[in-house]
Amino acid sequence: MRYSVPKGLFDIVPQEPKATDAWRCSARWQHLEKHVRQLAHDYGYSEIRTPMFERTELFVRGMGESSDIVSKEMYTFNDKADRSMTLRPEGTAPVMRAFVEKGLHQLGQFHKFFYIGPYFRYDRPQAGRYRQFHQFGVEAIGDASPEQDAEVIAMLADLYTRLGLQEWTVLLNTVGDSSCRAPYREALKNYLKPHFEKLSEDSQTRFNKNPLRILDSKDRGDQDLLKNAPSIHDYLSPASKVHFDSVCKHLDALLIPYSIAPNLVRGLDYYNQTVFEITATALGAQNSLGGGGRFDGLLDQLGGPDLPSTGFACGLERILLTMDAQKCTFDTAFHPFVFVVPLGDNAFDAAYQCTFALRREGIPADIAPKGRKVQKALQLADQKQATYALVLGDDEIQSGTAKLKHLQSRREIDIKLDALITTCEKLYANN
Ligand code: AMP
Repeated sequence: MRYSVPKGLFDIVPQEPKATDAWRCSARWQHLEKHVRQLAHDYGYSEIRTPMFERTELFVRGMGESSDIVSKEMYTFNDKADRSMTLRPEGTAPVMRAFVEKGLHQLGQFHKFFYIGPYFRYDRPQAGRYRQFHQFGVEAIGDASPEQDAEVIAMLADLYTRLGLQEWTVLLNTVGDSSCRAPYREALKNYLKPHFEKLSEDSQTRFNKNPLRILDSKDRGDQDLLKNAPSIHDYLSPASKVHFDSVCKHLDALLIPYSIAPNLVRGLDYYNQTVFEITATALGAQNSLGGGGRFDGLLDQLGGPDLPSTGFACGLERILLTMDAQKCTFDTAFHPFVFVVPLGDNAFDAAYQCTFALRREGIPADIAPKGRKVQKALQLADQKQATYALVLGDDEIQSGTAKLKHLQSRREIDIKLDALITTCEKLYANN
């Protein structure tokens, strides 16, 4: 029986036979992860790692029962002790759980975390939507200021700039605070009530449970109806208005272009004040590259201190797909600096020793498998994009000299084997 990867999942491998799958090559992931870690470092965010699964209630409590993720998309199972567990569908609730459980607030008032790893949602797979996908996210805890909101937005925009992405748009909105959301919710319901029958099934369900979520609807009919709906901006409390204007002012000063999207609410219950999303035209239907916002009440709701928080999460698959569509450049994959070609079984042991000696000095080295003919071994060196090939036979070992062949130029350098390491170190340093 042949096994295949479950639907909606994929492997990340060193090489992909199909050009359209090149975004799944591990070198590209390493390139992206390197930039992500550098960005986090540059902005003062430290890594936090939480487990792949948590108790189900954490996500229900955190994201709200009516959210699409909780109501339709969670991978939930009972463990052997019959406790309900869920593969993490997002990063914020687990980070907050860890923060509260460890009492990290006792160590200081301000905390900046980043996380990177796999997340799981059971949804219909399509290009840019997977059942296991990867997110990079940040959470800044302890700062209620609009400056902090602007920082996380600017940080995500900076990531896309550093990666060379073009044609992305920051969509910005506010969902106000609870004092403006209640009257706005009523106004929206009053506006939609006469059109209830025309709403999509999902929106009809949301009408009573969480009408603001109707604003998120991708249904064409709903979107048409929403064109003349009241706007949250007409219901903002003075404090929320000042907060939002200040976020805009800081983004202007940081030269981050954005568009105000009055219908953006971002699906989850925990947001307040600022919400944002960054979209890319190259992505088609699944056009959201990342997004986030402020969630001041979440820590308190999860039994922690009442500290404000703001953050974002972005999908690594969609970044790589967009980079591919826009022909962005990537660091090259690992390749050996020296590829050792043993000539005959007698020379193999000495060649094997040389390979390890190079590796131990931090010079990437590889060796052709035993018994490989010289032509085949050199082909392998080319395939692995080695910089140099070192052919070692009995003659070379006896004379203590060998030729180091630069594979691209086919230029050869005579080297003394007892100076192999120092010669290669110099070449590698100047590479
Ligand atoms: P969300 O947590 O839904 O706000 O998602 C944040 C980001 O994660 C999105 O903008 C996407 O880039 C990515 N994302 C969310 N769900 C998926 C998925 N099923 N497959 C791939 N990427 C996803």
